[in-house]
Amino acid sequence: MDTDVLIVGAGPAGLATAACLAREGIDAIVVDRGSVVGESWNRRYSRLHLHTPRIQSALPGLRMPRRFGRWVAKDDVAWYLRVYARRAGIHPRFGTAVTRIDPTDGGWTATTESGPISARQVVVATGYNSTPLPPRWPGQETFAGTVVHASEYQDAAPYRGRSVLVVGAGNTGAEIAADLAEQGAREVRLSIRTPPNLIPRQAGGIPTTLLAMPMDFLPAWAVDPVNRLLQRVTLGDLTRYGMPAPRAGVVAQARATGLTPTIDVGLVAALRAGTVTPVAALERFEAGEAVLADGTRVTPDAVIAAIGYTTGLNPVLGHLGVLDERGAPVVLGARTTLPGLRFVGLSTPLKGLLFQIGLHARAASRAIARDLRV
Ligand SMILES: Cc1cc2nc3c(=O)[nH]c(=O)nc-3n(C[C@H](O)[C@H](O)[C@H](O)COP(=O)(O)OP(=O)(O)OC[C@H]3O[C@@H](n4cnc5c(N)ncnc54)[C@H](O)[C@@H]3O)c2cc1C
Repeated sequence: MDTDVLIVGAGPAGLATAACLAREGIDAIVVDRGSVVGESWNRRYSRLHLHTPRIQSALPGLRMPRRFGRWVAKDDVAWYLRVYARRAGIHPRFGTAVTRIDPTDGGWTATTESGPISARQVVVATGYNSTPLPPRWPGQETFAGTVVHASEYQDAAPYRGRSVLVVGAGNTGAEIAADLAEQGAREVRLSIRTPPNLIPRQAGGIPTTLLAMPMDFLPAWAVDPVNRLLQRVTLGDLTRYGMPAPRAGVVAQARATGLTPTIDVGLVAALRAGTVTPVAALERFEAGEAVLADGTRVTPDAVIAAIGYTTGLNPVLGHLGVLDERGAPVVLGARTTLPGLRFVGLSTPLKGLLFQIGLHARAASRAIARDLRV
């Protein structure tokens, strides 16, 4: 065996797991296909701040500095992750993409471009939305404007004075639409297939992700009426601005589809100001026009697809029966479907993933320590 534990991914989940294992006295090899710690946070759009407050976002063993403020900027997250890795003595092997993982005698073998790595235990921490899968609409070749995936969006500068259709009203699409509207795009439409559950970032000064802490456990029927009331009182009736009402409550929607609520960081103000217009789902392009599900035709200068992400795990692990239909692991943290193969991150809890990563990293490393002692 090359190592007792192989951790795939040097994002928050991989780093937290490596740090917790180190505290158990276990060295791990951490590999990442990228080139620096916290790469996903370096690349994200400039306006982004965490939706979870600082105290709910730190990884095990290292607080985030107070100077980051309540809502931590994405560059500060990237900085924190670099410091976290350095303090925990984690030196990931970069440029090492794992393409397949297979069980072998007494452990696991990960296939990488630079050769196989064998390990007694593997922790997969490759990120829930780490692999963009840009959609391709019928007739797209007739569209003369630009079509970009949200993972490539940095800021509104290229879109000033232009008409933009943002597809998808999840957290990323909603914030990009608000950013475009605030930063001088001429016209911003937000194309919606599944009406989102919009919620404020905080209510009465309390961050909503803190209020959501028990919601991952409670039944939807018990908490969704409260959520509905909170939405009504804090954001008002958004249907009057063309925003379709969500079909299910926050918890019911999250359980059925994996879609977390869309936290408002500017969209509601833009809807009220009329600078973002909700429209129907984008179905196809025809003769250069974008055709929406209700038959409306629009001709934006640019389309930004804030949909189309996968875990990217099916080619790596799909043959092992450990993934669900969305390509996400069936069990997380300490629990296993196959002995010695664990997952940290890779889910969308209502309380925020960073907090859950801390819990699962601790639990997984304790379980690994037990397994290795046997
Ligand atoms: C825009 C946005 C905002 C978010 N805001 C919050 C928030 O406010 N609060 C919160 O709690 N959570 C938030 N999250 C969710 C989550 O906390 C972050 O996505 C976080 O980065 C997840 O950490 P991770 O380590 O699981 O995944 P990632 O950060 O995606 O890291 C995964 C790593 O694995 C590597 N990798 C992937 N596949 C392979 C492979 N096959 N081989 C080798 N390496 C591989 C990648 O290069 C990457 O470095 C947000 C997510 C997004 C997208």
